[in-house]
Formats: sequence, structure tokens, C-alpha cells
Amino acid sequence: MNTEDELKEMEWWVSIPKVELHAHLNGSIRNSTLLEIARELGEKGTIVFSDIEHVIRKNDRKLHEVFKLFDLIHVVTTDHKTITRITKEVVEDFAAENVVYLELRTTPKRNDAIGLSKRSYMEAVVDGLRSVSSNNLEINFSGADLETFSKSQTKMRIIVRLLLSIDRRESTASAMETVNLALEMKDMGVIGIDLSGNPTVGDWKNFFPALKFAKDQGLSVTLHCGEVPNSVEVQAMLDFLPGRIGHACCFQDEDWNKLKSYKIPVEICLTSNIRTETISSVDVHHFGNLYKENHPIVLCTDDSGVFSTNLSTEYALVSSAFGIGKMELFQLARKAVDFIFAGNEVKMELKKVYDAAARTLKHHTSTKSICCIKLLVATTMFPEKKTVDAATLVAVGTRGTVGNLLMKEIEYYKRLESDIGCDSDEKRGGSRFWCGLGLFKLKWQKKMGNSGINDKFLPKICMIVDAAECHHNRHQHRHENKIPGLITIFLKLTLSNIRSSEESKE
Ligand SMILES: [Zn+2]
Repeated sequence: MNTEDELKEMEWWVSIPKVELHAHLNGSIRNSTLLEIARELGEKGTIVFSDIEHVIRKNDRKLHEVFKLFDLIHVVTTDHKTITRITKEVVEDFAAENVVYLELRTTPKRNDAIGLSKRSYMEAVVDGLRSVSSNNLEINFSGADLETFSKSQTKMRIIVRLLLSIDRRESTASAMETVNLALEMKDMGVIGIDLSGNPTVGDWKNFFPALKFAKDQGLSVTLHCGEVPNSVEVQAMLDFLPGRIGHACCFQDEDWNKLKSYKIPVEICLTSNIRTETISSVDVHHFGNLYKENHPIVLCTDDSGVFSTNLSTEYALVSSAFGIGKMELFQLARKAVDFIFAGNEVKMELKKVYDAAARTLKHHTSTKSICCIKLLVATTMFPEKKTVDAATLVAVGTRGTVGNLLMKEIEYYKRLESDIGCDSDEKRGGSRFWCGLGLFKLKWQKKMGNSGINDKFLPKICMIVDAAECHHNRHQHRHENKIPGLITIFLKLTLSNIRSSEESKE
């Protein structure tokens, strides 16, 4: 992809409405702001500016640099004015990339020496929210003002709610103080509690009373869970039935089983997990499995400033790493509305935003590569070949782009045939595309050149399917003594299906 294509691609990810549910206020600070404040602190002699300048200016920070930056942020975010400024800027940055709903979390800090209390810290945050509104951006951070907000359609709009974080270093009493503060600030947009901080510090038993109290009082709770291997804690956290959990990186089989049976939504923070070296690479990230199994998940940034990312980038990353189409990820973004902690009125408001976006996106994308259609696949499999993961086959009724669904099918059959020893044909000089539905791909590419899938392509799909079926007859003949069982594939993708699907979207 050349730079122009990449830019266009990025524009698309920015253009879709997004929901951010795992963003720490301090970790989302702008580099430019951090640089400015660090320079001032350097002039005052509070820090040595030259020690930190190169780390702030860097984008691909190593783990030790990430920690260095967190230390610096801790130093700079202790006065009310800075907290207000950062809050305003963070919300503006999320709004600028079309985040329509943001749950911003922060740990209320207390520093008696400078007159900072947990309450005054949070008031500075709320002041930041208040100062967001401008000529082109409208913010809603309180349920009471939602009606007025929903009527204003001319500006860019963002709904923000706050989560108060309990730091794992805190005592039970201090955690309880945070929960009480959250309850007092309900009408200022505070809707929940988060447990975060160094995962190797603190004991679940210390936080449990405050978290249980929060839950009993009607606050929603999300937990940083499984950032380090600790199955005892993970099990206890899951049994607590939090509204959501963040990360879930170091889970054992029993933890996955419990998470899935409880259907607890997971806040996925890909770049964060890679940068902190919790997960070795994107392709082995548990997002893939959770997505495939349709477990509730939401893509998030964690600390967009520190990890030099944003939510649009996270969507683009998932798309390229896992080969998921744009409309499928648009649907994933929309699904996140179900996992927000705000009430039904906000959910309804957000669904309206997504409905409107779906209509606009349709015009931009048309049938070129994103027609959301149903690909009907009926198949009987090799029952003996247990090594093939049946779940990878595109199931009947799966929704996705034509290209994406076909590619999934092709991958599946490639694996299937390599499993039954079809590779040998290739070694004997046979056509590579003889194997699997690669034939499919070849014909598709030949017919369509580089134009992708468009209207002209659609009527030809059935013809290609005919070829694939013909191939399978020959294939079956070749292996008839070797493989008991019969493969029948009906890739029934008719024009009428597509047209009715398109019409229903009108
Ligand atoms: Zn986090």
C-alpha cells in the first residue's frame, strides 16, 4: 500500500464513530503538552529536562521509556490547572477522531502539601470537561443534559462519562473514600469504578469491600484483570462479576472458560499489550480468539499518549493483523454501545449515531468492497480429520465483505487439503492453485484484475462456484480410496441475495 492509500485507509477508520471504554486520563496526555510542562519544570529545577526530552519526542517507546514517561506524568499532573487542561485536551483529541462516547478513567490524587484532595482533583477534571464546548464541539457529561445535547446536530459531538480508579497501592479505607466520592459526583458524570495500577502490588482482598460497596450502590465496576499470571486473583475477579474487565492477557484455560461462560465484556488494548511486552506480537493476541467466538469485546487505547496510538489506529491494526473487513469492524464498534456503563438513554442516542453513519458509509463504500451480505455455506466435512479446526469455516449466515468471506474460505480449504496431503501435487509441479479453493482466488483475480469486487463481479461468483465444485469432484476421485466421506460445497451467493440485502439497507 502506498502512502496515499494508507492515508485514505486511515481516513476511513477515523470517519467511523467509535466508543472508547478504557482510557486513562493521564496516559492520554498530548506529547506537545507534556513537552511544554516538562520544559517549565526543568526551568524550575524540579526535573532535569534533557533527561526526558528525547523520550517525550519518541513515538516507538521501549518498555523502560514507557515507565520513565509514566513517572514524569505522575510529577506533572499534580496541580489543578494542569489536570483541567489535560482533561480538556484529551476529550478534544478523542472527539477529533470521531470517538462519540468516551469513558475516561482517572485515579483521584491527594497531596495535602499543595492543597490537593481527591475531591478537588476530580473537580479539576470536571472543570476540564466543562471547558470543552466550543464553536464546533459539543460535549455531554451529565445525564440531565442529554435531551438538549441530542437535539444539537450541527457540531461535532461527544458524550463523556467518568470512572474513578482505585490504585492497587491504596488501602481499603482509601479505596472506600474513592467510591464515596464517585457516589457524591454521580450528577457530574461519574458512573463507575476501575481497579488499576501495578498488577504485582496489592491484594484483591483489600479492594473487595470497596468494590462490592460500589456495586451495591449502583456504580458499574471494571477491573484490570490478568495483566500478570495470577489465576487465584483472576478467578476471584471473574466471580465478582464486574461489568467489564481490561486486558485479560495472562489467562489460563480455566480463566477463559469462566470468562466466556459469564460473558464478561473485555476491553482490548492491543498496542498497550505489545508495548508493555505482555503479549509478544499482535497476531497471537487473544483478540483473535475472542472475536472468532463472538465474545463481547471492545477495542480501546489504554494510554494513547504514552503508547503513541489512537482508537482509529487500533481499528486499523486489528483489520490488518486479523484480516477483518471494514464493515465488520464498524459492526464491532457499534456493538461496543451495548457494553458502556451509561444508561439506556445514552445507548439509544449512540445507536442513532451509528444508524446515521451506516447510511453515510453505504454511499461511500457502495458495493465495491463492502457489501454486507450473507454467504451461505453448506458443507459436510472430513469427519476423521480432527486436526482441522472446523470453527475456521465460515458459518452459514456469517456477515462480512465478499472478499473477506471468500478469503476465509480459501484459507480453510488450503489447510484442509494440506492436511490430507495435497501439498505433494505442488511438489510434483502441479498447479499451486489446484489445491483448495485457491482456484477460486485465481479466477477471481483474473476476471477482476485489480478492480476488487464490484457490481460486475457479483453475477460471476456463481460461475466460479461451479468451477470449485467441479474441482472437488476431481479431487474426490483422486482421493476416493483414501478419504471416506464426501465434501459438498454450496457457496450459494446469488445476485438476488445481494440485491435484497442492498435494498434492505436503503
Ligand atoms: Zn489500563
